[in-house]
Amino acid sequence: MEDTKRRGRLRRLCRALLALGLVLVLGGVDLAPAAAVTWADVNELKEEANGLDAEKEELEAKLDSLADDKSQAVERKTLLDQQIANTQAQIDNTQAQIDQYAALITQTEAELVEAQEQEEAQYELFCSRVREMEKQDEVSYWAVLFRATSFTDMLGRLDAINEIMRYDQQVIDDLKALQAEIEEKKATLETSKSESEAAKAELVSKQSELSAQRSEANAVIAQLSANENETEAALADLEAQQDALWAEAQRLSDQLVAQQAANGQSTESNPGGYIWPVDSRYITSTMGGRNSPGGIGSTNHKGTDIGRVGYTSPIYASKAGTVIVSQYSSSYGNYVVISHGSGNTTLYAHMSSRKVEVGQYVEQGAVIGITGSTGNSTGPHLHFEVTENGVRVNPLSHGAEPQMGYLTGYTLSSSA
Ligand SMILES: [Zn+2]
Repeated sequence: MEDTKRRGRLRRLCRALLALGLVLVLGGVDLAPAAAVTWADVNELKEEANGLDAEKEELEAKLDSLADDKSQAVERKTLLDQQIANTQAQIDNTQAQIDQYAALITQTEAELVEAQEQEEAQYELFCSRVREMEKQDEVSYWAVLFRATSFTDMLGRLDAINEIMRYDQQVIDDLKALQAEIEEKKATLETSKSESEAAKAELVSKQSELSAQRSEANAVIAQLSANENETEAALADLEAQQDALWAEAQRLSDQLVAQQAANGQSTESNPGGYIWPVDSRYITSTMGGRNSPGGIGSTNHKGTDIGRVGYTSPIYASKAGTVIVSQYSSSYGNYVVISHGSGNTTLYAHMSSRKVEVGQYVEQGAVIGITGSTGNSTGPHLHFEVTENGVRVNPLSHGAEPQMGYLTGYTLSSSA
């Protein structure tokens, strides 16, 4: 299909070049070769250019949907960023707890060492006291037995030894109890610490899962952006193609107008295929800005006013088509709209009477109404509007050059 289009374009280009070549070779000689371009060629190019609109709309819709997807992905990534920051704060918090437990454990270990040293010192003290007593022969059981002056004396001496032993035993027992207490405290701290470490490990694994999800979201965003760039490039390409077609159409039109002028032909037959909707060629107001006449009527004029029509002139269908409006409105008065195909309509307003019904097919030149001054109007005239592709166009100067207008041979009133 692309190939067919390209061949068609090439063929037209060759024809145009041939026509141009002949003009150059025969320079100035009045010549209207059969191979010359026609309005049909111009229209064909314009249709081809318009035909690209559907593809453009498709790409634009795709861009919209890509933008939607992308904003969703960015939203998801933002959420993940927040979750990651939260989890990191929890990890930091847990780490602070772990550090605190470790410091307490270190402190407890020091306490434990101190208690053990105290116990050893106490035991050492006891031993040295016993050794001292042994040196003085005060403690040996044998000495006790042999030196006792009596059984009561012996028991008294043994009691003294037991008293010392009991006291030392009590101190050592207390120290042992303290040690046990410290050990238990240390064990509790270690349990808490390992619990915190387990919690941290869980958080770290959650964090890495979130990071993976974020990487995924980033990849999706990158993919969508690439897709967007690609689509934008395709759209720009299409627009360039369309511009080239329009430019070629314009160039052919200029050539055609020049050919017709050289041949002394009327340029009445125009690219849009429109004919004058009334017999008058007297323009009282053109499309675009103007002063509101007598304060009545629009200041941004949407149509072309044709005057010198009186109240009884026939109004002709400018092109064949189907009547889609035939009614009265307070602004347009009695008016008729004819559709000539997708987005192409003509409108005729301020009629004194309408001669067609909605749904009726009319040939070009068919009488559709009679001129008048109904609705928002200061005097009899025909208000005429043309839309192409749904957009109002100026039938007097459509295209870049004034002579490209659909309606030619008119006279402008000094106030128009
Ligand atoms: Zn008007």
